[in-house]
Amino acid sequence: MRLGAHLTITKGPAYLEKLSKSIGADCFAFFSRNPQGGSARTIPEREAAEWRKLKSDKGIYPLVGHMPYTVNLGAQKDATYEFAVRVLAEDLRRCETFGTDYLVVHPGSHAGSGPDAAIDRIVRAIDAAFKGYTGQTTLLLETMAGQGSEVGSLAEIGRIFKLLGSPSQLGVCFDSCHVFAAGYDIRTNEGINQVIEELDCEAGSECIKAVHFNDSKFGLGSHKDRHARIGTGEIGADGLRTVLLHPALHMLPFILETPVDDYEQYAEEISAVRALL
Ligand SMILES: [Zn+2]
Repeated sequence: MRLGAHLTITKGPAYLEKLSKSIGADCFAFFSRNPQGGSARTIPEREAAEWRKLKSDKGIYPLVGHMPYTVNLGAQKDATYEFAVRVLAEDLRRCETFGTDYLVVHPGSHAGSGPDAAIDRIVRAIDAAFKGYTGQTTLLLETMAGQGSEVGSLAEIGRIFKLLGSPSQLGVCFDSCHVFAAGYDIRTNEGINQVIEELDCEAGSECIKAVHFNDSKFGLGSHKDRHARIGTGEIGADGLRTVLLHPALHMLPFILETPVDDYEQYAEEISAVRALL
């Protein structure tokens, strides 16, 4: 298992190396651009080389990007959709230049237009992003809690995979909080096995490439996307251990996105996860 947290890349590779070491992380995630806005920093080649060295020389890997929340690939409004399509294609290529292994995206929201229409737009957006793309960054669709008009149930992710013809650059990011809130009791072996089996059959075996490892503030099937710190939520320490030890997940990167006051607090969260082992 590789264990890390959602951090920031804005302060550069040297800061991130120091931070990772101080909190005990061996991988990390970051926003591919301003999470609330849309502006993106151009990363000069010299800095890109330093990021790639974190992996090759410092043993910090994989690098896991996350698309900003303003990107809605299922958007009905033309301007919102065109922005999402452009940013997806751009960030996939930008992230590739500095050695990002995975880029996670929330599939999208239909905002009243219905999941079928949104899935059609999501598929077209991903298809456009993959056109002419031969890079090493794998795009991961995140499993969602089903809050509001979110698309991202296991079956919907499966449909997106099938409509795209399951390209090799596409995978799944399993979020423990979201899957639990969506109604799967992953605290039990039966529950977690069911999720893995459904994903195997919907999106292909070994489609899961990364885990967002979060406890859940709300209960099973609440459809609320509210993360809690490890062992303090409704999944709890024993439930999270069941997820952590599942053979289909155990060797993957586990990224914490739990609510901390500052990045240094991830040291406690990472220790809490290691204690589960
Ligand atoms: Zn996410």
